Amino acid sequence: GTPLYYISQIKDITNRKQVEADLRKVAAEDSLTGVANRRQFEADLAAQVSRCRRQMETAALLMLDIDSFKSVNDTYGHAAGDAVLKAVAADLACRVRAQDIVARVGGDEFAVIMVGGDAETGTSLAEEMMEHFDTRQVDYEGRQIGCRASIGSQVITGDEKDIDEVLLGADHAMYGAKELRRSTS
Ligand code: GH3
Ligand code: MG
Repeated sequence: GTPLYYISQIKDITNRKQVEADLRKVAAEDSLTGVANRRQFEADLAAQVSRCRRQMETAALLMLDIDSFKSVNDTYGHAAGDAVLKAVAADLACRVRAQDIVARVGGDEFAVIMVGGDAETGTSLAEEMMEHFDTRQVDYEGRQIGCRASIGSQVITGDEKDIDEVLLGADHAMYGAKELRRSTS
């Protein structure tokens, strides 16, 4: 009746937990810039639309597209273009509040969700950011590269039938800004 010995088995899962955390990061992040990727952005946008509906609040969506970005790649090379994309993402991330979401949603397209924002604060952040990028120079191997961008905003009220409705509104505002900048520059 007296145990003579015990056998125990211990498995260290620290590494597995790290791998799981890394995978979650890879699934949510844009690998070049480190901001949220399109997949994460769409999930966040859907969550914001639901939140606005439930809590009768608003938010604002900003869409940004770099002006003449192809010419950056053509003139300075793809690596210089990448440096501009990283700088735009970093500038956006450090200019919004902690609760806001910055994402890269396409090649040279970025989005910002202003949690609790409205039509007015969305428009004023869009204008402020356009002014910022109008004079921003990215240093790449000693060369200064401009990164002008067009930004449009759309309020989220929670009444939208899906995220496409919000995206369409923000895209439309962004293209409006691009047209205006083309005609006045
Ligand atoms: P517009 O003023 O109308 O926006 O003109 P644009 O030249 O910026 O045209 P568009 O927005 O269509 O161009 C996006 C370009 O972005 C095309 C593609 O070659 C480039 N691109 C997409 N992804 C990457 C990337 O990861 N790195 C770099 N360097 N370039 C990229
Ligand atoms: Mg562009």
